[in-house]
Amino acid sequence: MTMRRETCDVVILGAGFAGSLLAIIAKQQGRSVVLLERARHPRFAIGESSTPLANLKLAGLADTYDLPWLTSLTKYGPWKRDYPHIACGLKRGFSFYHHRRGEAFRPDRQHGNELMVAANPDADRGDTHWYRAEFDEFIARQAVKARVTYIDHCDVSAIEHDGPWLIRGTCDDGPVEITASFAIDATGESGRLAEALGLKRSTDGIRTCSRGLYSHFEGVALWADILETGGHRLVDHPFPCDAAALHHLIDGGWMWVLRFDNGITSAGFSLDSHRRPLDLHISPEAEWRELLAAYPSIQRQFADATPVRPFTRTARMQRRLSVAAGEDWAALPFTASFLDPWLSPGIAYTLFGVERLARILGEHWFDPNRANQLACYSRTLFREMQLLDRITSACLSRMDSFPIVTAITMLYFTAAIFTEERIRAGQARPDDAFLLADDERFVSLAVELCDVAHHVAPTDVAAFVKRVATAIHPYNTVGLCDPERRNMYPFTGST
Ligand SMILES: Cc1cc2nc3c(=O)[nH]c(=O)nc-3n(C[C@H](O)[C@H](O)[C@H](O)COP(=O)(O)OP(=O)(O)OC[C@H]3O[C@@H](n4cnc5c(N)ncnc54)[C@H](O)[C@@H]3O)c2cc1C
Repeated sequence: MTMRRETCDVVILGAGFAGSLLAIIAKQQGRSVVLLERARHPRFAIGESSTPLANLKLAGLADTYDLPWLTSLTKYGPWKRDYPHIACGLKRGFSFYHHRRGEAFRPDRQHGNELMVAANPDADRGDTHWYRAEFDEFIARQAVKARVTYIDHCDVSAIEHDGPWLIRGTCDDGPVEITASFAIDATGESGRLAEALGLKRSTDGIRTCSRGLYSHFEGVALWADILETGGHRLVDHPFPCDAAALHHLIDGGWMWVLRFDNGITSAGFSLDSHRRPLDLHISPEAEWRELLAAYPSIQRQFADATPVRPFTRTARMQRRLSVAAGEDWAALPFTASFLDPWLSPGIAYTLFGVERLARILGEHWFDPNRANQLACYSRTLFREMQLLDRITSACLSRMDSFPIVTAITMLYFTAAIFTEERIRAGQARPDDAFLLADDERFVSLAVELCDVAHHVAPTDVAAFVKRVATAIHPYNTVGLCDPERRNMYPFTGST
């Protein structure tokens, strides 16, 4: 078989939505681009719940790089009108329910074990859950339309880096060899390029410690129906609680439930690896059943549910590379690190990285300062990850106390909403970090409160909650932490 040879400016390994999007942008900037994918679309991918910040970043990329086809995918209404063939789900916000082992869920009048935070004013302007198989396939097709050289079903066998990048592999048509001056690792968890560079992949310094158990299901009941069957009234809910990233908090972990319009629901547990260590003697299916059996209301929600794909069960999910970029390469955020899906930060974190990298490649391609810019990209990614780690580990360690989790979660929402408002008002700087991770005052208050959260005694919870409310006040543009709201927050931001 003849060897296929390609020479390009930029080779991108991994055609998830992030790799494909960056390939389209680099091509738009005048680079020749080869995009290599190991699998073939449509393929399963986890990481489905988008957020306002993610959608604002997506809209910004559409605007900056003249990608009008992308704009409709940033809101539920336009998405459904313009791309009815790409499945998604409506996300009006975040909803949380705190369960006690062996007991049916019973909300109280003050909503002391519930939290709902609206993220948008109505369904038309709603956020979305991305059915990644179809979403990622669409973006990869757009890359082909943009004349990116796309090679899928490609098994990369060797990566050499003495001078330009030399990547060898085998695809359906035979062997392939790609020479490139810049390489991007967008392979996510595999970190294929990072591995070739011999980069250390570790959990160094990461506090969050959790493992995952998840699948896609059919037949998951509406949580609203479970609540109503239990005689609970939903009048205070600021939006339909199922049109959300729905979180069930349990002892030593939490569960996500994300509904798509095609009848499929993504659901999974993130479990504290210390308190619920992985036991390979129990099958994933049996562990799933055991978890549901301990929480009667969740079990009722999944009574008629059947998985439509095998369960994925992971060991500890956290990972990070020692560095995320060099002179002539960069790793995208999900390749550089991962913590936990708690509060759905991943897509936004990824798009902040894509935007930053796109700017560096666009503005500094021929510039000797490019290496410094890339080093800065790497440092920012890890600074963002470290702040997120503080918030995530504090929440995961306090699943026993809903008021503490709620208070720490407010740090996340405050930072996210503050950033959204700045973007909408045109006040954001191009290099602003995700979640105010470059705002020293915010980081220091968040770090202090997260550290304290691990040790707050039951008698001190009320004082701690007040302390959080006072601390976030300068950033709290939409009235979070208001006791009069009784944990039910309608949308009050700008649009
Ligand atoms: C359990 C879990 C739940 C999550 N939930 C959320 C959520 O609700 N919301 C959220 O915002 N984020 C979530 N995330 C994070 C989210 O998954 C990532 O931010 C997102 O997938 C990043 O997209 P990506 O395109 O960078 O990587 P990926 O989607 O991982 O794409 C990587 C691509 O690279 C390809 N590839 C792999 N190896 C090779 C190779 N050797 N050669 C060529 N190609 C290769 C893969 O086939 C794949 O197509 C979650 C993550 C996990 C693990």
